[in-house]
Amino acid sequence: MDRPIQSIRLGSWEVIGLVESEFALDGGIMFGVVPRIMWQKLLPPDEENRVPMEANVFLVRTGTANVLLDAGLGDALSAFDRKMYAPKGSSRLEESLGLIGLRAEDITHVIFSHLHTDHANGAFRGDPDRPTLQFPRAQFYVQSDEWEDATHPDERTRAVYVEPRLQLLGESGRLHLLSGDTEVFPGIAVAKTGGHSVGHQGIRVTAAGERFFYYGDVIPSRFHLKGPWVAAIDLFPRETMKAKRALLQECCDTPTVIGFDHDVTVMFGRIVRNEKWMDVIPVDTAPVPVASQSVPR
Ligand SMILES: [Zn+2]
Repeated sequence: MDRPIQSIRLGSWEVIGLVESEFALDGGIMFGVVPRIMWQKLLPPDEENRVPMEANVFLVRTGTANVLLDAGLGDALSAFDRKMYAPKGSSRLEESLGLIGLRAEDITHVIFSHLHTDHANGAFRGDPDRPTLQFPRAQFYVQSDEWEDATHPDERTRAVYVEPRLQLLGESGRLHLLSGDTEVFPGIAVAKTGGHSVGHQGIRVTAAGERFFYYGDVIPSRFHLKGPWVAAIDLFPRETMKAKRALLQECCDTPTVIGFDHDVTVMFGRIVRNEKWMDVIPVDTAPVPVASQSVPR
């Protein structure tokens, strides 16, 4: 879906939402134990039972740092990856960065919620068998047990981790392995959730008393607010449910904007209670001014 680049402000900081890729995934994978008869009304599948998805990534601009929250699906995809994710066109990350006057070299930090292909593979470019790193100057952050699990996949996880490509991050000398809840730098902290994957983490951005939380695949879309609406791919669905409940209640009690990574309609939302459970109210976002000059590549 074509939509303008959107942003919210946290004081002098800016959080910009970027559609990195459009793709499609089996609806059963996305909605887990929820029967198709319930989810198909919300997100109609195609003839292959795939539902439309976006890989949305969020760029935090602090004035001194350009911090990317997840890297999206990327273009360095094997034939198997393309079959699984059915990408529509190419990655739009470089083009979108160009529109706001940035290049891949300007990204200072990349914090991964987890290392599944649709979140980490955008860190690579070129031939999927011989890729290079997309962000030549960035420091990379991920939970240490996520790294361990992703680089030692088993029969269940091998399809969603691009293990040989991930080794490039390890060899970069710029990979930081985090342990539990911790601050990356003042105003940007991670909260380990597990659930979706062994070391999945949420990322909390706080500036000038305003909060933006990105919890990756704990709440991938506005259709995933209710407890049991958990993707089938989650390794520990009860952990996801627990993390989701705590997050949603916190975001009702303390005003917070949430970023959705796979929602094709709403990228920024606030959580409100209703008579049954909770709803998402889309947040008014400012269109980001396009850079006056295109950036040379
Ligand atoms: Zn995902």
